[in-house]
Amino acid sequence: MSAYTQENRNYLFLRVIRYVWNIALEQRNLRRRERSQKITYNTQAHELSEARKESWLKEGSAAVQQQALRDLNQAFQNWWNRPDHFGRPTWRKAGINEGFAVRDLSVRRINRKWGQVFVPKCGWVKFRVTREWSDIETASSARVTLDRSGRWFVSFTRLAPQIERKSTGFVIGIDMGIAITVATSNGEFLDMPELLTKGEHQRKRRLQRRLARQVKGSNRYKATKLAIAKLAAKEVDRRKDWIEWTTTDLVRDYDLISLEDLKITNMTKSAKGTKDKPGKNVKAKSGLNRSILEQGWGLFCQRLTDKATNAVTPVEIIAINPAYTSLHCSECGYTDKKNRDSQALFHCLSCGYTDNADVNAAKNIIAAGLVVQERGGQSHIVSTKTQHSDPAKRTTTPKAA
Ligand SMILES: [Zn+2]
Repeated sequence: MSAYTQENRNYLFLRVIRYVWNIALEQRNLRRRERSQKITYNTQAHELSEARKESWLKEGSAAVQQQALRDLNQAFQNWWNRPDHFGRPTWRKAGINEGFAVRDLSVRRINRKWGQVFVPKCGWVKFRVTREWSDIETASSARVTLDRSGRWFVSFTRLAPQIERKSTGFVIGIDMGIAITVATSNGEFLDMPELLTKGEHQRKRRLQRRLARQVKGSNRYKATKLAIAKLAAKEVDRRKDWIEWTTTDLVRDYDLISLEDLKITNMTKSAKGTKDKPGKNVKAKSGLNRSILEQGWGLFCQRLTDKATNAVTPVEIIAINPAYTSLHCSECGYTDKKNRDSQALFHCLSCGYTDNADVNAAKNIIAAGLVVQERGGQSHIVSTKTQHSDPAKRTTTPKAA
């Protein structure tokens, strides 16, 4: 969910956050250079509250400043845990991945087009309503961000709704494919619809051609860029809508859902694939496509897990190790990379079983999930770490340039 806002006061806000982030980062770096003891988040948080008593920092919101420290801490954690994925935290510069979180959200509606969100120590900030008001009203927190073109966004985080459901006794395995398409062990495909209409696609191409001709930095250039950004936001919103519908349906209909553990799948590394587990689609899993894919699946798993936990009759989510799921024959268990006739088709060289490759994988995924459950339910919450490129989380995971 995003909304557009323009408030100069927010610039001051961001300056303070940047200041806290950079000072805290320098403190950590200094300790490192001097090889003295690492400074912890708690120490820094304490020092900040001391500093607030004496300095101009007290003018700003304590919650927002402490959040900056937490963001920095998270950025370091990410870097330590997954150096292949996250860069070392760097200095914040104005206008790059800036933002702050607003908890204890209060929003009010001015009219059909505009709403307001209360930002502590800043007051009511106006924003353009681009989502269902009921979604905004029920959001649990918001993040205010500034992008490189100087536009403000408020993105709201929704709590998982409590889904009314009765136990169905049904279980399902799902294979998360390329281009955000789900294949199920029932042989169904839950496809995401086209995100843009034909007309919107044409408009996007036209705008991109126009942008290439325009003088960089000119007003016309900026206007074209804004129009492209609006179309991109539309795509993001529609993708999110699809994720909401699909995860709600799955949670309502099944008592157990088995899927691949994204943390192990690590789509970055498996792009080219290995000898044992060839990449499913190298092109789609590289570059921009890959990050969109990761983002989409990260959100998908997160919403699915949240809704499953929150449902009236909870649903069990089991994340399994995805190794070989695409090469096993779901009928006879024979495993051979030659079983994959093509990208789309599975053909077992031993028993002759033929199926859609992703459906065969989904059948293996539910089988593995049921084994895990029988062993005593080593199920665990699906990792959503691959979400590193989610815009709402940008500020917590800055990448070294
Ligand atoms: Zn077979």
